[in-house]
Parts: sequence; C-alpha cells; structure tokens
Amino acid sequence: MYDRFNRKINYLRISVTDRCNLRCTYCMPEGGIPLLDHQDILSFEEIVEFTRFAVKKGISKVRLTGGEPLVRKGIVGLVNQLAYIDGIEDLSMTTNGILLNRFAAELKEAGLNRINISLDTIDTDNYCKATRTGNLSDVLKGIEAAQSAGLEPIKVNCVLMGQSDEEINKLKAFCSERNLPLRFIHQMNLKTGEFSKVRGGDGGNCAICNRIRLLPNGDVKPCLFSDLAFNIRELGIEEAFNMAIDEKPRAGTYNKSGTFSRIGG
Ligand code: SF4
Repeated sequence: MYDRFNRKINYLRISVTDRCNLRCTYCMPEGGIPLLDHQDILSFEEIVEFTRFAVKKGISKVRLTGGEPLVRKGIVGLVNQLAYIDGIEDLSMTTNGILLNRFAAELKEAGLNRINISLDTIDTDNYCKATRTGNLSDVLKGIEAAQSAGLEPIKVNCVLMGQSDEEINKLKAFCSERNLPLRFIHQMNLKTGEFSKVRGGDGGNCAICNRIRLLPNGDVKPCLFSDLAFNIRELGIEEAFNMAIDEKPRAGTYNKSGTFSRIGG
C-alpha cells in the first residue's frame, strides 16, 4: 500500500518489549526508565493478529526490536508464529547480541532470516562503559553462533558517539574480516528532532520512508520522529492501522513523548 505521499509502506518494526539487559548511555539513564506493567504489554496473540492484518494490507518486511527482544520470554515461539504468516518475505531482528549465543540456532530454526547486532566498539573496556553492564565477549560469542546457525546477512549497527578513529578502524577491520556489513548511525535525539540518514542503510530517509512501528503497548506509530500514535487496544487493529498510514507525516520532526527503549529505533 502507499501513503498520501506515494511512498510504498511495506516494512513493520515491532518492539516486543521495553525491557533491556543493557543500559547504553545514549539510550537510557543508568537506573533505567519506568517500565510498562505486564498487562499493558501486547500478548503474542495480539502481535500476530496485528501482523497478519498488516501483511494483508501490503507489509512484507517485519523486524523485531525492543528494548532487547531476546529478553522477552518465549520470543522464539513468536518468531515461529510470524514465520508462518504468508506474505512475510523478510523476517529479521535487531539485538544487542548479549543472549544471541543461547538463541541463534533456535531463531534460525523458528524461521528468522537475518539479524542486526548493535555493536559500537570492540574495545572491551569502552564497550562496558558505553553499555554500563555489558560483557563484549558475550556479543562476540553471539556473532559466531549466528554465523554458525546460518542467519544471513548479519549486519552490525554502530552508533557514532565519539569513538576514536582507531576504535572505528578496529571495528571496521573486525567486521570486514567476518563479512559483516557495518552501518553507522548518528546519535538521534527524539525530543529535539535530531536525526540523519543511516550510513549503509535506508533509515532516516523520509522521502522514501517505507515503515511503521508497533510498540509494546499497542501503539501504531507512523513515524519515529512524531508524537502520532494510534492504539490497537483502544481503536481496534483496522482503525489504528489505517489511521497510521493516513496520518503518516511527509517527514519526521520531533517526538516529545517517546523513548528509544520503548520504540526500538
Ligand atoms: S523520521 Fe519518520 S518519516 Fe522520516 S525516515 Fe524516520 S520514520 Fe520515516
């Protein structure tokens, strides 16, 4: 389907949880953020029902995000249910990789096609500082497990946050040695509306934007940098979906109400 600016909308990003096992400095405060109550988080049935409807309307690419999707209990089962929906040509996930070693083979088996891993440095100390809790070796094991499982491609998302040239070059070398496409994301600020195109990807390019988002609380967001949201529990799936497409702005401005850990970038 097309929006009123004649953009083909075929990509759904589903944030399955606002929980995360890291505290990245550019994403959330050290103490974390107030979390949604469990009853306010969509069930797998609700996510699958929404996605089935969205696919009928023209969605063919689905990406699971968070928070951190792998901390959501039963996530492999959700991947499997989504993989059975006719019309989904591309089922992917964005993860911080900390739990990937444990889940990679099961995710592949369940029907996941490919995966993006958030990795801003391969310097052990800087990684721990940037994530406040993370252990880099867990991510490296996760990448190996994803490659062994046959998830393909495995892309690396690096948020530029003042890393040294040397650090960036080490990350570039690490990725090229392992055939991992590397994309650079400039830090974004929802409140002030600071964002730019993803280098090596198509995010942040409003003129050709093809995406909508489903949030853990059931909000359908036509744009990351907008306060617009239409809730499927309040409006019903059809109304919320159609309003998100009809109201999708020409370009992002700012988002005063949202947080990255709930929207999933
Ligand atoms: S800011 Fe909004 S319109 Fe622009 S690329 Fe992001 S989601 Fe699409």
